[in-house]
Amino acid sequence: MNSNDINKLLNHLHQKHLACSEGSTANYIPELAKANKDHFALSVVTVDGQTFEVGNFEQPFTLQSISKPFVYGLALELRGKEKILSKVGVEPTGEAFNSIIELEKSSHRPYNPMINSGAIAICSLIDGKNIDTRLSKVLSLFERLSGKPLKIDEQVFLSEKSTAHRNRAITHLLANFDIIEEKSERSIEELLDLYFKQCSILVDTRNLAQMAATLANGGVQPLTSERIYSTDFNRDILSLMFTCGMYDTAGDWAYSVGVPAKSGVSGGLIAVVPGKMGIAAYSPLIDHHGHSIRAERAIKEFAKTLSLSIFS
Ligand code: GLU
Repeated sequence: MNSNDINKLLNHLHQKHLACSEGSTANYIPELAKANKDHFALSVVTVDGQTFEVGNFEQPFTLQSISKPFVYGLALELRGKEKILSKVGVEPTGEAFNSIIELEKSSHRPYNPMINSGAIAICSLIDGKNIDTRLSKVLSLFERLSGKPLKIDEQVFLSEKSTAHRNRAITHLLANFDIIEEKSERSIEELLDLYFKQCSILVDTRNLAQMAATLANGGVQPLTSERIYSTDFNRDILSLMFTCGMYDTAGDWAYSVGVPAKSGVSGGLIAVVPGKMGIAAYSPLIDHHGHSIRAERAIKEFAKTLSLSIFS
């Protein structure tokens, strides 16, 4: 397919799925509920750096759970695989993103780093002398991945912090089971702040497509040529996105689309076609699994039309 055909396909999918008004904005984080329901963007970046985009591709929104696979890769680079695997597993849960029940089972280790319990445990492993140093490691990772300076949405951060009873409960359970070293009230709150700030980093679909294209390109950012992840860790990130990135619909996504993906409750979704391209979509209307409905349908159709499944 040539560039013209890709542009045509993206325009067609944008027009078609914009007409869908199913779903609602994430309401458990009040600030996210205010998002403009009409926003819809699609971006594609190929491993040789070509960019295709349509809709509100410069509209900023927060990363939310799309941050999780990337910070997992950072933790692997900083702390090594053995340490990471001793704290967080690699099994899908078949449960929702904020599930708490698996922490009660045998090892008390979160099943995987894509669900909140695993992501908070991974965040705890991003070391540094204080919270600012740790946050700057995370922010700088996303700046290198998207090739530009990024900001944190303070309103979303505060909104999530003030309503985070469930994530707070998860973090206390992780402390109780010695998965994280934070034990005092203050250190637990600091860890949660780090996690909420990671989730509140502002991006647009152009940034996300570059981040996804980095994973498609074996860990090298295709536009800056900077190596972000070793090929081994890049492969580990993609395996986990494939089996766990879409939470309790990961099996359906693997079966019907066949590429690694990750969604976030603000409405972003990325898909990685190894060796070919990164795809990103944004629309804030989500379903009860926490996936953007327009984004999911558009990427599914894009992948099907171009036979992008890794098993094709
Ligand atoms: N910050 C969100 C939370 O922790 C992330 C969830 C998501 O995007 O799926 O609840």
